[in-house]
Amino acid sequence: MSRAFIGVGSNVGDTEETIKEALHMLDTHPEIRVAAVSSLYLTEPVGYENQPWFSNCVAEVETVLSPESLLDVLQEIENNLGRTRTIRWGPRTLDLDILLFDKLTIDSERLMVPHPRMKERAFVMVPLVEIAAAAEFPDGKTAADIGAVLESEKKYSCIMKKLW
Ligand code: ATP
Ligand code: MG
Ligand code: MG
Repeated sequence: MSRAFIGVGSNVGDTEETIKEALHMLDTHPEIRVAAVSSLYLTEPVGYENQPWFSNCVAEVETVLSPESLLDVLQEIENNLGRTRTIRWGPRTLDLDILLFDKLTIDSERLMVPHPRMKERAFVMVPLVEIAAAAEFPDGKTAADIGAVLESEKKYSCIMKKLW
C-alpha cells in the first residue's frame, strides 16, 4: 500500500461541487481510499492572472496502484468532470496532480514526482502542511520545512470550509 498526496484545483463552474465529486470518485475507486482532505482554500491565480480565483485543496490517498496507474485514474476523472482548457496554467474545471508518492522520485516524460513546481506554490504547500506537516520528500525534507519557506508569501485569501 502506498501513500500519495493529490493537489486538487478548479476555477471554472461550481468549483466546490466539482472538487467534492472528484474526491468522491477517487474514494469510490476500488483501489484508492481517500484518507484525509485539507480545507478548501480560495487562491489567487499564478502564471496566467486574467482568470477567476481557484479553489484548491490537497488530498491524502492510500492506493495499491502504481504512480502511472494513479495518474491514469486522475486524468480519467479530469475528463469525466468535463475538463476543458486551452491556455497553459489557464482556467480549468478540474486539475488533479500527483504531488508526492511515498518517497519516490519519478522523472519520466509523462510523470514527474515530486511535482516539479509544488515547492514554490503556496496553494499546494499550505493545504499539504495542514494535513501532513511531516510528509517527507525524497531528500528527507518535510512539508513543514518547505512550507515554512513560503510562509511569508501565502497567496490564499481565506479558508473556505471543510468539504470532507
Ligand atoms: P502544472 O503541472 O504546472 O500544475 P497543469 O497541472 O495545468 O500544470 P496539466 O495540463 O494538468 O498541467 O498536465 C500536463 C501534463 O503533466 C500531463 O499530461 C501529465 O502527463 C504531466 N505530469 C507530469 N508530472 C505530473 C504529476 N506529478 N501530476 C500530474 N500530471 C503530471
Ligand atoms: Mg497543476
Ligand atoms: Mg495537472
